[in-house]
Amino acid sequence: MSHTRGQLLREGKSKQVFAVADSPDHVILHYKDDATAFNGKKFDRVADKARVNAAISWHLMNFVSAETGLPTHLVERLSATDQLCHRVEIVPVEVVVRNIVAGSAARRFGREEGEPLPYPMVEWFYKSDELDDPAMSDVHAVMFGWAEQWELEYFRMAALKVNAALLGFWDPLGVDLVDFKIEFGRTPSGQLLLADEITPDGCRLWEKGTGRKLDKDVFRRDLGDLSETYRELYSRVFGHELGA
Ligand code: C5P
Repeated sequence: MSHTRGQLLREGKSKQVFAVADSPDHVILHYKDDATAFNGKKFDRVADKARVNAAISWHLMNFVSAETGLPTHLVERLSATDQLCHRVEIVPVEVVVRNIVAGSAARRFGREEGEPLPYPMVEWFYKSDELDDPAMSDVHAVMFGWAEQWELEYFRMAALKVNAALLGFWDPLGVDLVDFKIEFGRTPSGQLLLADEITPDGCRLWEKGTGRKLDKDVFRRDLGDLSETYRELYSRVFGHELGA
């Protein structure tokens, strides 16, 4: 069946979500070359970012699903930047897993960036641009109706499995997985699917030995050329350079 883009349903910071003309149960995710940070206050276009992120997310989501048995929203790759996905309602709980202290974990708690954690830490953030994604605990998510307690238990268990799979993926490539964010969606029948993306936009990836950053912190912190960094990461993942 051909799947053509219908109406634009949602415009995010790095992706657009389109309805599918002939299929109400699906959407098309379209990756953009846009990079934003600090909730959109910093913005740039980054050449090749869409193709790198779409390829890495497709690869990592499928890898994680094969390793863990967790279902994802992915259905079919339509092009270098477009993916057919199951239509879900995104749960407004950003699930962050940390192996090493960095970013807001360092800032909020006065810890050194780079401090290894004795075991992985799972945190929730309320997905809200207006509020800058505040950190929250189970009680907020349940009390305000954003997720049910059993869903949070599922997210915690799933996030730890995703972390174990991703650590096993990045380690042989000479990369430390510092932290990452994932999101889940509910299908109309209530099944929870790993949704959104797994890309260097939402992970911290440090080169082993040097600590060099291979993720969106290069853009957030003005550490170099994000397009070059992402193309380098692509080569590490796929063993060949991104084509023209
Ligand atoms: O900023 P913080 O240290 O809490 O981020 C933890 C991880 O979650 C980082 O890998 C970051 O890229 C990711 N993240 C994200 N989207 C957000 C907030 C954090 O992808 N809105």
